[in-house]
Amino acid sequence: MQGEEREDLQPCGACGRGTLRPKDMAWVRTGHRDDPRLCVRRRIVLPVCDACGDMALDHVLAAALDEALEDAYRQKRLRQQRAMISDLHKLGLTSTEIECAACLPPGHVTRLRRGMVASPRTFRLLHLLHAFSPGAVWALSRIDPALAEVYARVATDDEL
Ligand SMILES: [Zn+2]
Repeated sequence: MQGEEREDLQPCGACGRGTLRPKDMAWVRTGHRDDPRLCVRRRIVLPVCDACGDMALDHVLAAALDEALEDAYRQKRLRQQRAMISDLHKLGLTSTEIECAACLPPGHVTRLRRGMVASPRTFRLLHLLHAFSPGAVWALSRIDPALAEVYARVATDDEL
């Protein structure tokens, strides 16, 4: 069309049917590491096939995408783990008690709040503890009596 910028488009080498077109990947959800729905929150334009969705990335674009994904992963994880720890504190659990419940070494919760990204295993344990407390604390007190006192303190009268 007249007045429209001419794009230097290439055919897709993966499917042979589509065309590689520049696509802004900001706000597109994709799997990265152990996060199935990660969203890159910055503008990153990549050649994407309009038929099969394959990306044709050279090493520069691949490195840029990887850096954007890593940054988004870190920011999302820090936001989530800080929120979960904050909620557990509001429920009445101390950092030491969270560490006891999740089998974490002393000081670990403080490090997670200060910017260390939780391992996938620690993140899952925190997620379960957060999603099902105080019931999760009760369940753990069955195998760790030290948590029985914690449960008695944080459970509501209906739960006791
Ligand atoms: Zn294709």
